[in-house]
Amino acid sequence: MADHDVIVIGAGFTGLTAARDLIDAGLDVIIVEARSRVGGRVESEYLPNGTRIDTGGQFLCRDMTNLMETAQRYGAQTVLSYVDGQQSYRPAIPTEQGDAIWDGLERLRERMRSLDMSDPALARLTVGQWIDRQTDMPSNVTGSFRRLVKGLWCRAPEDVALAYLVSNDRRVTNTHPELEMFLGDTMHALADRLAAGLGDRLRLSAPATSITIMQDEVEVDVEGRALTARHVIIAVPPVMARRIELSPPLPPTLTKALAAWEPGCAIKLQIGYETPFWRDKGLSGSVMWSDPQGIYACDASHDDYFGIVVFLGGPLASDWHRRPQTELADFITSELAAVFGSPGQEPSSVCIRDWVNDAWSDGAYSDVITDIDATDAEAVLLEGLPRLRFACSELSASFPGYIEGAIVAGKHAARSILQGQE
Ligand SMILES: Cc1cc2nc3c(=O)[nH]c(=O)nc-3n(C[C@H](O)[C@H](O)[C@H](O)COP(=O)(O)OP(=O)(O)OC[C@H]3O[C@@H](n4cnc5c(N)ncnc54)[C@H](O)[C@@H]3O)c2cc1C
Repeated sequence: MADHDVIVIGAGFTGLTAARDLIDAGLDVIIVEARSRVGGRVESEYLPNGTRIDTGGQFLCRDMTNLMETAQRYGAQTVLSYVDGQQSYRPAIPTEQGDAIWDGLERLRERMRSLDMSDPALARLTVGQWIDRQTDMPSNVTGSFRRLVKGLWCRAPEDVALAYLVSNDRRVTNTHPELEMFLGDTMHALADRLAAGLGDRLRLSAPATSITIMQDEVEVDVEGRALTARHVIIAVPPVMARRIELSPPLPPTLTKALAAWEPGCAIKLQIGYETPFWRDKGLSGSVMWSDPQGIYACDASHDDYFGIVVFLGGPLASDWHRRPQTELADFITSELAAVFGSPGQEPSSVCIRDWVNDAWSDGAYSDVITDIDATDAEAVLLEGLPRLRFACSELSASFPGYIEGAIVAGKHAARSILQGQE
């Protein structure tokens, strides 16, 4: 007889949510996590002055109802992002021109979301090829769309399968800005609270290396130790799931579905200052770069911490991954000084978290489908196998690639096991 009802592999928001829901329903659950901490792509760091900042997933908005509800249940306080004042552009352009590009970008994004993907003319296209065909749009709008793909999906548009992006973006349904708010004591503290109470059901520094599926149970090898259960949930991103050895080997459809993904490339910086000096100039702290493509910054100050968070995504993040971080800090602070004024070059703290080739996620913010033929990859993975389920934010029915998506995916995986028992 199996030792447990369910083994959950991965203690990110997906795995933590699935484990909590299953435990609440009375099941015996073990959750194994490769890192020495929970949270996965949500993590934090303490600055020298004691301020805790999110170095991974951080922001939420009120449309993300499951995350809002989780934050409320665990007593986390939300902080509204500072948005008063003018948006900045780099290189500088007049505000009206920036607004016009933004409107065009929204129209192009809506056009993409509305595509009829059964149209044979759209089959086997990358996002880059589709953008090339939008010849009625001004080049600064198509250029901005390329920037958006690099910044949000963290890959070059030439890499990304159009069918994937259309489906993915349709599931991101917020009407409020996605950076609307964050949690005062960090998103990572919320992951800690979700994990509190799991006790010895949570095993940290415990990577799963192989899974054997048998008729009545599954065996998971965790650093040479075998754990058995009736079900296993692989709550890790697709690129990490394919590193876990499966026996018997996965059917070809599942192998192909797992192989369809590549990790995004992202670096997150947080530049702290003694004062929010940009606000004195009527600037919101939000900066949109058109050159180089793939950088975005905004004000993430809270309490007595004043800071600008800067996101680097796509090929730019891959490039900087290969260069010294001191050079990156100099580059970003000189860019901020060019927009906000010379105090930009005198930060009180600089925190850089490079997620490119990360040991346990291989990238961020999410994996994306690069195989243009893998149109059913998500459906095949969600189908899983008897006793084995794949669950992660990437596979969520809503807000894929976001923390909200991870919670939805975790709930879905738990529900499918509970329904199978009825
Ligand atoms: C820099 C950055 C900024 C982001 N910003 C936002 C944001 O502002 N808002 C937002 O909503 N989302 C944001 N995201 C995305 C969000 O963090 C993720 O979508 C979400 O956290 C994914 O959760 P998950 O549980 O599906 O996967 P993960 O968090 O990746 O969890 C998977 C877990 O599995 C573990 N694992 C992997 N392999 C094994 C193994 N073999 N054995 C055991 N354990 C294993 C990993 O260590 C990890 O803990 C951001 C991500 C990053 C990195």
